[in-house]
Amino acid sequence: MEIKVMKKVMQANIEKATEIRDLLNRKNILMVNLIGSPGAGKTLLIEKTLVRLKEKYNIATIEGDIASNKDALRLQKYRIPVVLINTYGSCHLDSATVEKAILELDLDSLDLIFVENVGNLVCPAEFDIGEDIKVAVASTAEGDDKPEKYPLLFREAGLVLLNKVDLIPYTNFDIKIFNSSVRKLNGLLPIYEVSCVDENSLEGWIDWLEESIRNKTGIAVPI
Ligand code: MG
Ligand code: ZN
Repeated sequence: MEIKVMKKVMQANIEKATEIRDLLNRKNILMVNLIGSPGAGKTLLIEKTLVRLKEKYNIATIEGDIASNKDALRLQKYRIPVVLINTYGSCHLDSATVEKAILELDLDSLDLIFVENVGNLVCPAEFDIGEDIKVAVASTAEGDDKPEKYPLLFREAGLVLLNKVDLIPYTNFDIKIFNSSVRKLNGLLPIYEVSCVDENSLEGWIDWLEESIRNKTGIAVPI
């Protein structure tokens, strides 16, 4: 019985996610779903990315959090549309909730929607929310064993941001172990080593994101 109910929930989630994907395709908007554990640095990565790209593209952010508006408040100073979703206990975003947030945005004036999922490495990877790409955010402070312990996220992700590489000297994080575990799960997955205290480390990620925005929106490469 329980399995039957769960199947229904997952099926309804996929159907709604497909509707979202169709809508965003019609509107030429790229949607990026950032997934990582609490404290991996998702919000700060979004902030650093906004500083670089918000004058060039029209960006909105959907902030998923179990409780509080702390992260949404942090994004206010960038003067972009921010929609906060408090899940009140649910440990992931689903497509029905994300659809409500998307419908609060002016979709005719957007190029990119960031979704910061609820901090959790498990079920956000299971729930399609209609995104173009899932980005796995891992940080060196969490240890190099996360791909082995939470394989689904790294199978589903289209990109890995390995954050806080500046902390490696103070941890026992082994970057070779991390990279080879990711490669075993998903051989072609790009891994960008980033640190929010070193702006230059963000170049690869920013270039990748800009290329993805251009591919989706048709915005020409600035000369
Ligand atoms: Mg956050
Ligand atoms: Zn969950």
